[in-house]
Amino acid sequence: MNYDLIIFDADGTLRRCTVPGQVCPNAPDQWELLPGVIETLATIDWGSPSRGRAGLGIASNQAGIARGYLTEELARMMLEDTVEAAAGFRPVAGSIELCPHGTREGCSCRKPEPGMLLRLMDFWGTPPEKTLFVGDMESDRGAAVNAGCDFLWAADFFRP
Ligand SMILES: [Mg+2]
Ligand SMILES: [Zn+2]
Repeated sequence: MNYDLIIFDADGTLRRCTVPGQVCPNAPDQWELLPGVIETLATIDWGSPSRGRAGLGIASNQAGIARGYLTEELARMMLEDTVEAAAGFRPVAGSIELCPHGTREGCSCRKPEPGMLLRLMDFWGTPPEKTLFVGDMESDRGAAVNAGCDFLWAADFFRP
């Protein structure tokens, strides 16, 4: 794959909530990886783009924090656990971005705003034309458009 940086949405892309009727997990025992995620990520040589490997990033809207469903610390830990389960390594500090704001706060990070993607490209030192964002919602595609990077639907990226 010809990208220096691949950024993933979390919910509906790497993992799904196991609580019936609930979209996003609010506790560590409320999620599982989606089919095909481990197998696909195992084909990629992860590391630092400065050393010719692919950087990994996470960009996740976590409005449940603003609603009081979970703390930012717990949400971040669960995203780190998700990366470890999916890719087999603990993500480096700075490679996980979450938006803790509510839907009406007008922040610059909640997707489709590009703030999280821009910060991840800055963190890894990767230009948008060498960056891919993988997500499952129209707001994900919009964030990629607004950040100037490529986009793939999770259903296509993880297609067996
Ligand atoms: Mg999603
Ligand atoms: Zn935000």
